[in-house]
Amino acid sequence: MKLIFATNNANKLREAQQILPQYQILSLEDAGIHDELPETHETIIENSKEKAEYLFNKYHIDCFSDDTGLEVEALNGAPGVYSARFAGPQKNSDDNIALLLEKLQGVENRKARFVTYVTLIINGKEHIFEGEMRGTILPYRSGSAGFGYDPVFCPEGYDKSVADLTTAVKNQISHRARSLQKMAEFLNSK
Ligand code: IMP
Repeated sequence: MKLIFATNNANKLREAQQILPQYQILSLEDAGIHDELPETHETIIENSKEKAEYLFNKYHIDCFSDDTGLEVEALNGAPGVYSARFAGPQKNSDDNIALLLEKLQGVENRKARFVTYVTLIINGKEHIFEGEMRGTILPYRSGSAGFGYDPVFCPEGYDKSVADLTTAVKNQISHRARSLQKMAEFLNSK
């Protein structure tokens, strides 16, 4: 089965392909679509829906989207929906991490979670799947795998960052893996 992933993020695409090897997951580019997807809302779930709905309404294709945020307890859930542009409109992960580490300097409560909402539109109907990964924010960067905030996020039950883990391990425990596995269970049950 072919599924179009409503993303221009090559890292998310690669992870989705590894998490769901039973599907042929196509990028927007593979589908010949070169649009910038809108993300205009104040919540992660609405941004997830917006990306899939944009594609479906414009191209009438079955697709799924992913919107993800990092929620830090001591920052009252920030950066949350602003995770990509936490340090500014340049959407730079190094800058975002630097700002996060600065804001958490000397802060004892380092609990955080990643949350992903996947929106699947199939046969004209919308379905939403949530996945989370709980953990803590390390006081330093570590590791070179993954992307985004992975070098400073230590998942619950581990003593290293996501960027220190192998891709195979990240893709078993991550917010993205959990939401995409729920989508696969739904597709299997149809
Ligand atoms: P978005 O879902 O593309 O809007 O991502 C929001 C922010 O979270 C961006 O800064 C991403 O780099 C970051 N992000 C998304 N997924 C992950 C992940 O799996 N690990 C670390 N950071 C992520």
